Amino acid sequence: MNRRYLKCFSLALLFSLHLWAEGGMYPINTIGSLNLKKEGLKMDVKDIYNPSGKGLIKAVVQLGGCTGSFVSDKGLIITNHHCAFGGLEPYSTPGNNLLEKGYVAGSQEKELPIKGLTCKILISNTDVSTDILKGTESVSDGVLKKNIIAKNIASYKAAEVLKNPDYTIEIAEMLPGKSYMLFRYITIKDIRIVYIPARNIGEFGGESDNWEWPRHTGDFSFVRAYVGKDGKSADYSQDNVPFHPEEFLNINAKGLAENDFVFIVGYPGRTFRNLPADFIKMQEEFTLPYISDLYTWEINTIKSLGAGDAKFMIKNEPKIKQLANVEKNYKGKLKTMRSIALYKSRLEEEQKIANKLNIEQSARFKNNLNKSNALYASMGSIAFKSYWYNNLYSESKAIALADNIRTISNAFRTMKTEEYNKIKKNTLSLIRSQYKSIYVSYDSIFLKKMLLDASNFSGSNMVPGLNTLLFKNENKMQVIREYIAKAYKKNLIFDSTSIFKIINDKPEKIEKLKDPFMDLVKNLNKDYHETDSLMTYYKAQLDALLPEYVDLRMEALGGDFLPDANRTLRLTYGYIRGYHPSDATYCTPFTTVRGMAEKDGAAPDYRLNEDIARLLNQNAFGAYKLKDKNDLPMCLLYNTDTTGGNSGSPLLDGNGQLIGINFDRCLEATVNDYAWNESYSRSIAVDIRFVLWTTSMVSGADYLLKEMYITQ
Ligand code: GLU
Repeated sequence: MNRRYLKCFSLALLFSLHLWAEGGMYPINTIGSLNLKKEGLKMDVKDIYNPSGKGLIKAVVQLGGCTGSFVSDKGLIITNHHCAFGGLEPYSTPGNNLLEKGYVAGSQEKELPIKGLTCKILISNTDVSTDILKGTESVSDGVLKKNIIAKNIASYKAAEVLKNPDYTIEIAEMLPGKSYMLFRYITIKDIRIVYIPARNIGEFGGESDNWEWPRHTGDFSFVRAYVGKDGKSADYSQDNVPFHPEEFLNINAKGLAENDFVFIVGYPGRTFRNLPADFIKMQEEFTLPYISDLYTWEINTIKSLGAGDAKFMIKNEPKIKQLANVEKNYKGKLKTMRSIALYKSRLEEEQKIANKLNIEQSARFKNNLNKSNALYASMGSIAFKSYWYNNLYSESKAIALADNIRTISNAFRTMKTEEYNKIKKNTLSLIRSQYKSIYVSYDSIFLKKMLLDASNFSGSNMVPGLNTLLFKNENKMQVIREYIAKAYKKNLIFDSTSIFKIINDKPEKIEKLKDPFMDLVKNLNKDYHETDSLMTYYKAQLDALLPEYVDLRMEALGGDFLPDANRTLRLTYGYIRGYHPSDATYCTPFTTVRGMAEKDGAAPDYRLNEDIARLLNQNAFGAYKLKDKNDLPMCLLYNTDTTGGNSGSPLLDGNGQLIGINFDRCLEATVNDYAWNESYSRSIAVDIRFVLWTTSMVSGADYLLKEMYITQ
């Protein structure tokens, strides 16, 4: 597919946009400069976003880490199953496991509050770059400039909060050192569960199908936003009333065909496209392999321990899910970035940029790159050690405990009473949660693995504390085995009562405790903190170089890039489209419920929901004039530009009507976070017709269809 370049420059927005047929997460205030009509949009762009008034975007909300959209005038929000189903946990018991069974409230009185989940609605956005960049005009030192910007942001934000106490105020960096936007939101704090389908619908396919196409996951759910009687945001109260949004989405239950135009409005989290090629190298060589391999090991180890310990398994299920989601994403990224030689193509692009710029700019560009490449090289030289430390201190509860106990001891020796009490209080709460989560068998296997890994580190990745404490002789394996056997055997640190007693009654004694973990931490801490500070320093230096890099890139490419995703409202558009994941393989862009039935029983992740099975056997499709299960749409594939945070985003047709709920990408598209490409960038939604059929026929929640004005 050829990108069609239609350059348009908006001075007010400070960055220019290339318009191409697909791809691109466009900041919402820039969409007026896109010729979306030509691409297939049938409505007026002003009816999507209109700075001075209403627009479809008023129906789109940021829901926790996800996106959602209003689908009724009574605050009903549709989002993903995976964005809301955790809210059922406090209402679940072993005898009545709502997480598994799902929940239909049936009436507003029975809707269940989700503690901690909020919904943000965008009120307005303003370009505040001039104010934020004040005082930086003649500053050439990147770090100094960053500090001035940070101060300006803090004071601008504080003034805004005073002016508009009812709003949530955020200032987002769109382009580093160049463009800053102020976002004012209303934050609704009372969100309640309306309908969450059974887990074997909302999560059908589980980890086996995560980041995969073809897909048969009914990843949707409904929640409702409530406000105080005065219409203002309020904490949960029985007296609260449903929120009346300015806009809600209409639904297109007729469906679309391959190559039809679609668009998404949502809150994508983070992309890394405007960074130097060596950032990609760092990801490919260190970050992605280290983290994904470690997570593979953790998942397998937890699973094998869990095979003999059901309680441990249940407790760790959410953790496995989290780890597996990242692990598969990273492995997918690695696979695609290698197959498309992403690093090489980014190097070539940098060479092209250097050639295109004038002599003075080109010299500055090369100089900037030399500096950042040197910083990436320095980071790379200690990357394994740095990841090792971070994971060791967070994953091994024995190490974390020892570290926290030492923190209290150090504070006791060096701080004044008031300060010490503060540190003690905070650290004790960490210690309590570590005692709750420690599982000694797993901890010992994990620490052993980490020590074995570190015994193979060489050069600047070597861990000095291990050399002085453990690796004094040749037989490192044996030393590790002996250390682990001793450390986890009847150790005082695992006796929480004694430890709390010492902390509270005799903190002066902590220092003298003879404990293998405290010894280890004592030996590791200095280099751990130095490594951490170094990494932070390199990162700050790199950030400081970024404005110039972006500036010159923009100069050479004529603005051939957009601000990276940063959790601000974006529009992306494209077409319903299949793809070729591998040679001689073409995946069509629609799945049907037939696929769900076909997968049934093939693995524990594929358990066809009983009600769905029954309805399929009866060919029961209600008002849907379908022949059979081959006819009932399930999920669809399209080439928009999405990332994490777009979960739950509305997939809209050319008229702005809802046709699906975005929930994932295919495996190859995980690399989208670094580079969008027509050949592999594909996102996945659950088809609204499956949502409607399931809501009414499977779960008997017809009343919601009526609320959404769906008449069949
Ligand atoms: N399924 C993704 C996740 O769980 C969210 C959507 C995406 O990244 O495309 O992180």
